[in-house]
Amino acid sequence: MFMSSPRTLFDKIWDRHVVVTRNGNEALLYIDRNYVHDGSFHAFGALAKEGRKVRKPRQTFAVVDHYVPTLGREQGLAGIADPEVRGMIELLEHNAKVNGIAHFGIDDPRQGIVHVVGPELGLTQPGLTITCGDSHTSTHGALGALAIGIGASQSKQILATQCLWQKKPRTLRVTVDGALAPGVSAKDVILAIIAEIGTAGATGHVIEYAGAAIRALSMQGRLTVCNMSIEAGARAGMVVPDDTTFQYLAGREYAPRRADWDKALEFWRSLPTDESASFDREVHLDGARLEPMITWGTSPEEAAPVGGLVPDPQKIIDLDKRAHSVQALAYMDLKPGMPLTDIKIDRAFIGTCTNGRIEDLRAAAAVLKGRKAVVPAWVSPGSTAVMRQAEVEGLDRIFRDAGFEWRASGCSSCAAMNGDSVPAGMRCASTSNRNFEGRQGKGARTHLMSPAMVAAAAVTGKITDVRKLV
Ligand code: SF4
Repeated sequence: MFMSSPRTLFDKIWDRHVVVTRNGNEALLYIDRNYVHDGSFHAFGALAKEGRKVRKPRQTFAVVDHYVPTLGREQGLAGIADPEVRGMIELLEHNAKVNGIAHFGIDDPRQGIVHVVGPELGLTQPGLTITCGDSHTSTHGALGALAIGIGASQSKQILATQCLWQKKPRTLRVTVDGALAPGVSAKDVILAIIAEIGTAGATGHVIEYAGAAIRALSMQGRLTVCNMSIEAGARAGMVVPDDTTFQYLAGREYAPRRADWDKALEFWRSLPTDESASFDREVHLDGARLEPMITWGTSPEEAAPVGGLVPDPQKIIDLDKRAHSVQALAYMDLKPGMPLTDIKIDRAFIGTCTNGRIEDLRAAAAVLKGRKAVVPAWVSPGSTAVMRQAEVEGLDRIFRDAGFEWRASGCSSCAAMNGDSVPAGMRCASTSNRNFEGRQGKGARTHLMSPAMVAAAAVTGKITDVRKLV
């Protein structure tokens, strides 16, 4: 009897989607789902220039997120004061209409950040290949999909052909064993992983996250972990699908139903990595030893447990990393050796495709209940559905009572493309995923952390170990 060799989740999805290969390690992959957003106009423009239309409109989904304002949304398009931004939102609607693709526009209850909406609607499913013109497309791998962030020219290629040329990545398994301590969240796990392996630590690899601590995460926690795979340089991040995945998907708008569900389930159960499959690399972390993490520098790897000190660059052996940290400390206006909990903040922001889901808002609200923020703070839920759910649960009242602005859904202050920027010189405790110079606005200083840690910082005005407040 023929026995196939043991394969990883990645191998199984890759093998099923190869149309043709070239040069030994390049493959033309068939793409099951392609997500586009309001920043995808270059790809549509290039497509139209060639007189083409979207090849597989039913496999393409459009949602506005990057440029949508988070204030005045009750007025719809009319509430967008900037004609350029309004034009971009209208352009996506036009491109969707012309090409016959599903569009979740500014007024649609399904609107939200593309990486929140895909899983939330059940569009993202195990075993699929998924692309989107945004680097945090890796998020969708949390459901056991192979999800790859692409550039504008690749996006046009997919719109035109539903296929994408890719060099075969290598595989890296990151195993986080043990149980996370109370107060330690998925965001702390991924910040600890990136601090361990570095921002180039997974370059050219697809990461499979495994181990007891990962299996114990909810689907929303797994989405947070996979979201930041790109910050470790990975092409994608994945978690093998299991009952947590299936329970999350059941009943969602685009999830299969009845007999199709049973068929899908049978397929999904065949996807997990075979026991004896091997990876090109392995990394292990002890989940029980992890603590709440924050970033002190201008790279996601410049992170440390909240109880630690701002590091002394002179003690960093790698010369490139030392030079980067010198520059980072100057930009962040921090002194080596100071306790991280002495860092005062000026702003607090909760949202994004990393931490804008309902569990994130619940975690922050649990800290804020009965307390007041001492700095300007706002929440932009990851999707309109998350916003509505939070309102049903009364979380919006907790945020408002604590002095937070309760805003509409969008990318908001993650990249500040919609104008929700942090003023120059101000320091923001943020649930986002990037802390590069100027990411939240020119001269803005970003400290990445979990939603509960942002809430703790908001009420104390400084970096705070949330475990002391709850
Ligand atoms: S929230 Fe930030 S990282 Fe996520 S899609 Fe929007 S801009 Fe990109």
